[in-house]
Amino acid sequence: MPYASEYTPKILIIDSHGQPVRWALMQRAARYYAAGKVLTELGDNIFGMTGGVQEATGARSELVTSSILMIRGRHRIPLGRGHVGLTKHRLFVRDRHVCAYCGGHFVESELTVEHILPVSRGGRHEWTNVVTACRSCNTRKGSRRPEEANMPLIYVPYAVCRSEGFILSNRRILADQMAFLQATLPRHSRWAHG
Ligand SMILES: [Zn+2]
Repeated sequence: MPYASEYTPKILIIDSHGQPVRWALMQRAARYYAAGKVLTELGDNIFGMTGGVQEATGARSELVTSSILMIRGRHRIPLGRGHVGLTKHRLFVRDRHVCAYCGGHFVESELTVEHILPVSRGGRHEWTNVVTACRSCNTRKGSRRPEEANMPLIYVPYAVCRSEGFILSNRRILADQMAFLQATLPRHSRWAHG
């Protein structure tokens, strides 16, 4: 029986080389099935969706889709498109909601985007110059460098790769989808080992 859920699940679409392509809503997954593009169903979960009424029979069509679909073809990522945009939410998730200075774990509303080299001193707004910091650490550090403030970083910032971007962009990832994406991550990723 398809899993009935109260929220709209997103289906992880991967190409025939195992590269993640996109998160798709059920309707889009239905189009892949209809177009004969689905090669394999790789997910542990299946979802059901009721479609429109079929004219010939008067019956409602039903689609059942796997949580991970491998589709035909290789989806080349245009140069420059592999870059994952830096947003507050993605940064906090990259850093697992842990303040880079005190090591405390906080909810999103208590966290700030902290520029290691302050923007006022030429620091850039990019993945390798930002970490997650709690409000009080951010205020205490002010516009100093970590070494000037005697506040060493307890973890190193890094640029987020494409596969990790998929993890940071979906708040409701299923366990099988997470395991699939984790297997494609570089070792330095904080998400590589769960
Ligand atoms: Zn802190």
